[in-house]
Amino acid sequence: MQASIFLESGKEHSVLHQHPWIFASTVARYEGKVGIGTTVSVFNDAKKMIGRAAYSPQSQIRARMWTWDPEESIDHAFFKRKIAAALEHRKKWIKNTNAIRLIFGEADGLPGLIVDQYDKLLVCQFLSAGADHWKDVIVAILAQQTGCESIYERSDAAVRQREGLESQTGLLYGVQPNTEILVQENAISYLVDPLHGHKTGFYIDQRDNRLLVQELSKHRRVLNMFCYTGGFSLSALKGGATEVISVDSSGDALEVAKKQTKLNGFDESRAIWLDEDAFETLKNMRIGEEFFDLIILDPPKFAPSAAHLGKAIRAYKEINRTAMQMLNKSGLMLTFSCSGAMDMETFEKTIFTASKEAASHQKSGEFKFRVLKRLTSGLDHPKLTCFPEGDYLKGLLLERI
Ligand code: SAH
Repeated sequence: MQASIFLESGKEHSVLHQHPWIFASTVARYEGKVGIGTTVSVFNDAKKMIGRAAYSPQSQIRARMWTWDPEESIDHAFFKRKIAAALEHRKKWIKNTNAIRLIFGEADGLPGLIVDQYDKLLVCQFLSAGADHWKDVIVAILAQQTGCESIYERSDAAVRQREGLESQTGLLYGVQPNTEILVQENAISYLVDPLHGHKTGFYIDQRDNRLLVQELSKHRRVLNMFCYTGGFSLSALKGGATEVISVDSSGDALEVAKKQTKLNGFDESRAIWLDEDAFETLKNMRIGEEFFDLIILDPPKFAPSAAHLGKAIRAYKEINRTAMQMLNKSGLMLTFSCSGAMDMETFEKTIFTASKEAASHQKSGEFKFRVLKRLTSGLDHPKLTCFPEGDYLKGLLLERI
């Protein structure tokens, strides 16, 4: 008999509306033997079955829904169907690259599972007890359905701790990958280190915005803050920027960036890489009266949770205000937040306040910004209307008018 959980009366609303998370505070009682990552039947207060979920005894998210169909079993065939559907979506929508997010957790009906493709290599993160429980099955299906050469695990994200899972990395299938996987995206070559790179090695989510930078960079002097391995910088060089100054506090990431510049045959004299603190650099450049025609601000997650939001807003405001003051007339700015705890409305408000503050520091003349576009992640990071948490990357393209 499968173990069961029963939801508190009146607290089943969000689950009934297809939100996949069941918080500990909404569970009234448990029945049967519930184990870490095992499947439980989910019932409402009236003992009507809602569906099936993966149990996470240590997490505040006590269970994550696999299915809302009480008739559907969670087994090998279930994962085969889900993975096939996820791959089908990418085949349909993602072009001009072999760096693709194949599975994006909840948004693909597979909570806690991330799978990124870098050419013939897949890199996986099993971030929930449920995904971890089904690891062997998932790996076998991925190998069979994708025909990949290797599958490597990078389950070293901090969220695993909240699930009571240890950090885990290593080869799961095929041959050991090396630390330089060559991928192509919109006619640019990138080197991805799946063993040590951030996340699974590369910020796949910024693909569409990198292309936008490529299209907007001609004859522009560009500043790329928090550049990591220089995805936006290379895009700007490809697009014909006159000069690209890139800043990051990771020397290792900058070494990869330089290597990639050479690899693509870009004019290295137009690329300047600064291993510095972005906050300090912005301040100093402002004092030095540096001006740019295109500025990219893609900082790390300043608000890892709602508790950090206040401090994060101040940090976003500071860097945006300073960057705005260094933008030439008709200059463009792409500004981002990848903090899941910050929604688009809060982000926009923060940026709008930054622009007001920037204007009040101006010595003279008009100082206004036009919002040209709202920015988000690519279609391989699907967004579900019932799961707004998946929409973590938000940005704005601004023009100084
Ligand atoms: N824009 C990048 C991803 C940025 S991730 C891309 O598209 O690939 C955030 C980056 O900020 C990381 O590379 C990290 O090393 C860097 N970083 C974090 N804090 C920093 C700081 N105070 N100053 C400079 N860089 C910082």
